[in-house]
Amino acid sequence: MSQFVKGRIDVSPSEDEAMSANVSVEALKRKVIATIDELRDELIQVSETIHANPEVAFEEYRAMQLLTDTAERYGLTVERGIAGLPTAFRAWRSSSSPGPTIAFLAEYDALPGLGHACGHNIIAAAALGAALALSRVLDSLPGRVMLMGTPAEERGGGKMLLVDRGAFQDVDVAMMIHPSVYNMTRRRSLASYNLFFEFFGKAAHAAASPDDGINALNGVILLFNNINALRGHVPDGVRIHGIIPNGGEAHNIVPEYATAQFSVRAPTRAMAQEIVAKVIACAEAAALATGTRLQTKELYHYDNMIPNPVLADLFEANMRLLGREVQEPNANERMGSTDMGNVSHVVPALHSYVAIADEKVAGHTAEFREAAVSPRGHEGLLVGAKAMAMTGVDLLADPEAFRRARQVFQQAIQEE
Ligand SMILES: [Zn+2]
Ligand SMILES: [Zn+2]
Repeated sequence: MSQFVKGRIDVSPSEDEAMSANVSVEALKRKVIATIDELRDELIQVSETIHANPEVAFEEYRAMQLLTDTAERYGLTVERGIAGLPTAFRAWRSSSSPGPTIAFLAEYDALPGLGHACGHNIIAAAALGAALALSRVLDSLPGRVMLMGTPAEERGGGKMLLVDRGAFQDVDVAMMIHPSVYNMTRRRSLASYNLFFEFFGKAAHAAASPDDGINALNGVILLFNNINALRGHVPDGVRIHGIIPNGGEAHNIVPEYATAQFSVRAPTRAMAQEIVAKVIACAEAAALATGTRLQTKELYHYDNMIPNPVLADLFEANMRLLGREVQEPNANERMGSTDMGNVSHVVPALHSYVAIADEKVAGHTAEFREAAVSPRGHEGLLVGAKAMAMTGVDLLADPEAFRRARQVFQQAIQEE
C-alpha cells in the first residue's frame, strides 16, 4: 500500500454503487502489492541465487528447480519439463469460476562467459512474484494464473519452440518484464532469422596440386561478398551480420569444409523472410561459382515483437500508481530481437522494460550484470512484479479490458 502514490488509489468504499467495482479492483491491487511486499526477501533471494549460479541456454536445471519448488510451496500445481524441453515448466492455479489464463513468463538463461549480464534472474523472480500474488486473489476473480518457465532466450529460441509445440494454446495473455535502463512498454523488436551455411569442397595440396582441389572457403568468401552487394539494396532497418566458424584447417591445404552463420533481421517477419530468400540465393550463387556443394539450415528464428496497446496502457497506469513514469520509445531507436516476439504473434503480449541502472550502462556487460543484483535491481524486480500482478487484476476483473486486448491483437496480426 505504501508503494502507491498518495491520492491516486484512495477511493472511499462508501461512494455510490457505480464505484463499487472499482473499489474492489483497487482492494485487490492493494492485496497483490502487499503479497509481493511480504514475499520481498524470498523473491530477492531467488533472484540472487539464479544470478550466482548462471546456466546457459537449455541447461537451466537449477533455476527451473528453484522456481518450481517455490511455486509448489505456495500452492501452485507444477509441471516440470514441457513441450519436450526439460528446463521449461508451467505452474498454475485456477479460480473456481472459469475465465482467461494470464501467463507470466520467466526467463532464466545466462550468457556464456558473462553470466547474468542480461538480468534474466530479475525476469524470473518478477514473474514468480506476479504469479504468486495474483494467485492469492483468485478467490475474488475468475480465470487462471500461470507461471511459465521459458528457457534459452539468448540462444536457441525457447519461446519459439514453446509456441511451435503448442504451449500457448491454452494461454490468453502473456506478460513479462525485462530489466533495462528505462521504463518502457511499447518497444518493438526486430524479427531475426538465423542461418547456417556449409560449403563442401575437396582437399588438395595448396601449392603442388591446387587444380585438384575445390575451395570451400572461397564459397564462404563469395557468400560474404554477395551479401555485401545485396546490403545496399535492402529496406531501412534490415541488418545482416555473420561469422565464419570454420574456414579451413591449414593454409597449405585447400579447405574442403567451410561454414558461415548469419542473422537476417528486419522490422517485420514478412520482410525478414523476403531477405532470407535473397541471402540463400547469395549462398547458392557462391556454391555455383566455386563448384562447392552447399547445405543450408535455418537454426531458429525470433519474430518481431508486436506491442499490445491495451496491455501497455494498463501496465503503464499501474507503473504510475507505483511511482514510476514510463517513456515512449524513440522513433529512430536501435533494437535487438527477442523470442517474446514469437509469443506476441499468437497471444496478446506485454514485454515491458523496467529501469535498474543509469542510461549509460549497456546490456550484456559486466556493469549490467552487477546492476542485476544491486538495490536498484531488486527494486526493479519488485516494481515489475507488482505492476504485472496489478495488470492481471485489471484483466481478470474486467472482461471488457480483456476483450479489447484480444481485439487489438487480432487487428495487429492482420496488419502484419
Ligand atoms: Zn540478452
Ligand atoms: Zn535478455
